[in-house]
Amino acid sequence: MARTARRPPALAGAGETPLTALAGCGPRMAEKLAARDLHTLQDLWFQLPRQYEDRTRLTPIRDLRPGVAAQVEGRVVAVERGFRGRPVLRVAITDGSGSGLVLRFFHFRAAQVAQFAVGAPLRCYGTPRPGQQGLEIVHPSYQVLEVSGGDALGDALDPVYPTVEGIGPVTLRRLIGLALDRLPDSATLELLADAADLPPLREALLTVHRPPREADVSALLAGTHPAQRRLALEELLAHHLSLRRQRIAQQAHRAPTLADQRLAGKLLGQLPYRLTGAQQRVFAEICADLARPSPMLRLVQGDVGSGKTVVAALAALVAVASGRQVALMAPTELLAEQHLVNLREWLEPLDVPLAWLAGKVTGKARQQALADVASGAARVVVGTHAVMQESVVFHDLALAIIDEQHRFGVHQRLALRDKGGAAGGDAGTVPHQLVMTATPIPRTLAMSAYADLDVSSIDELPPGRTPVQTAVLASERRPELVERIRAACAQGRQAYWVCTLIDEPDDDAKPGAVMKIEAQAAQTTFETLAAGLPELRVGLVHGRMKAAEKQATMAAFKAGRIDLLVATTVIEVGVDVPNASLMIIENAERLGLAQLHQLRGRVGRGSEASSCVLMYRSPLSMLARQRLETMRATNDGFLIAEKDLELRGPGELLGTRQTGLAEFRLADLARDADLLPQVHELAERLLRDSPELAERIVARWIGTAVRYAGA
Ligand code: ADP
Ligand code: MG
Repeated sequence: MARTARRPPALAGAGETPLTALAGCGPRMAEKLAARDLHTLQDLWFQLPRQYEDRTRLTPIRDLRPGVAAQVEGRVVAVERGFRGRPVLRVAITDGSGSGLVLRFFHFRAAQVAQFAVGAPLRCYGTPRPGQQGLEIVHPSYQVLEVSGGDALGDALDPVYPTVEGIGPVTLRRLIGLALDRLPDSATLELLADAADLPPLREALLTVHRPPREADVSALLAGTHPAQRRLALEELLAHHLSLRRQRIAQQAHRAPTLADQRLAGKLLGQLPYRLTGAQQRVFAEICADLARPSPMLRLVQGDVGSGKTVVAALAALVAVASGRQVALMAPTELLAEQHLVNLREWLEPLDVPLAWLAGKVTGKARQQALADVASGAARVVVGTHAVMQESVVFHDLALAIIDEQHRFGVHQRLALRDKGGAAGGDAGTVPHQLVMTATPIPRTLAMSAYADLDVSSIDELPPGRTPVQTAVLASERRPELVERIRAACAQGRQAYWVCTLIDEPDDDAKPGAVMKIEAQAAQTTFETLAAGLPELRVGLVHGRMKAAEKQATMAAFKAGRIDLLVATTVIEVGVDVPNASLMIIENAERLGLAQLHQLRGRVGRGSEASSCVLMYRSPLSMLARQRLETMRATNDGFLIAEKDLELRGPGELLGTRQTGLAEFRLADLARDADLLPQVHELAERLLRDSPELAERIVARWIGTAVRYAGA
């Protein structure tokens, strides 16, 4: 499998010219640029500014605000060299506004110090922040003026480029400028004949690199200028095409054909319910994929409680009946365990041997499990992602089911391929992949982030569920809630009380420490509630408890031997207790929408009317208020996901690092979401009519950095 792309025959002429053709770019500099994947003139044309600096005006020092970049001009009033663990240079300046500002340098040369004579006029640009004596700017860019006010101000925004190690910003800008001087004519450069009402590519590039004096400054700073939108369109298109292409490559592999539905039929006969229409439809889609000799790549999304697990089990049985192995992976041990419990119940009566592989399965048990997986004695293997990615050797793996919860990205998905044709499998085949996600992804985003997958939606809940009523309450009204729990439990119902972190942990707090604080909060709440509700059986689960203890408590709750379960957010996933019909979430304002939705999904699983109370501590931020209001207004996971995208942006929603979505140069999925329909349309057309153009667009934007999966 090739990791580097062959560069398609791109632009005739200038685009492919190596950077050493530029004045002042010798082999050593070219090497530094190459380290950032910048090899040709075209690479520099598409090295787009990350942001702009506005040096078109001066801000009086008095008007500076912390965190807001600005340009100021003033005279040096004091210079101080010191040493605080490392050399420091402090230069104090003032201007006519009567306020002072400190410039602080940690790296400086003697010649630099000499420039800062008292009285010298300076112009500098940077982001002020509170210092020991008023505001200070660390490492401003600056210029010593001949005379104060002597130099003309900039007449346009200055682009700021992503840094290239070993090349200063001024040099980099100069090189990009030289490359731009060789930009070919519009016809040569343009790969998208009709980008709606947006400017042609050549014009767009020149505008973002060299904003003209009359350009709309606020649009440029916000990233919404038509020139930026033109580039965002092409960049989104390039990523979309690249995912689509990965998928085409992936599907060129062979996969085992799995078509025996007898075991699945038996399970259906054993279930105490009928599948919903949506479950049936999705299972049929999966069966059609499995029966084909190319690998399935399917994402099943369905709201919490929509019944994804049984669909996964049915799919697993198709593979097992066809004589092959299945792996089921979950992101957390708790969730994996819940799957294990379900699968045992369903598969043991059908005599399908299971293996359990989790971090805590150690020693002999682990050796045995691994041996069973390798020999093929185990037909279905359940575990966490982490465990499966280690050195597990399968006998004849044909289907990997991945419960992803947004924690598992494209790259890990691809890594699974290598697990396929081991000992008993058909040599050269790769397993089918079924990805399940509990948090629905907004449709637009799904098409971009998961363009390498087919998407099935279980968009119907099993019958007999009454929607959860959600209320938002200030924490002062806690006593009322305690009474409400008392009343609900007196009627034989069960309740959750979810404790969340009250204080923001330190940035560098270890996950263990966070869990500890959370556990303490839960312990305290548990004690208070148990004291206030002596007639109830109150239980406690948190992440710091021993697994066996946690399990015992969960089992007791499930069996109805506990009325009120005090828990940390560990119950977010994998808990299924239909008789629980009341949930209180403390400090709900601290949680994100997806997490709140997951938590709330733990109630409303039975036929009783359920409710969820979101308790908050005042004051509420605007965002928190909007989140809580969204939760109150809807139970629809799709709507909530849309809102989440709007409030948080796609990076966080999908887990930035996993998806690689943050690697955009300029596009922003939330800001530019309205371009996506056009992106998809263009992609269809290009792939159908001019695949070579599609190649060139991908090469131009993603270049050699892309991993051509399966190529
Ligand atoms: P999720 O999609 O959140 O993983 P689960 O698979 O955990 O949902 O299913 C939620 C609950 O609904 C479980 O108790 C399951 O047994 C039940 N269930 C699943 N499908 C049906 C159905 N068709 N009819 C009734 N109950 C169902
Ligand atoms: Mg589930």
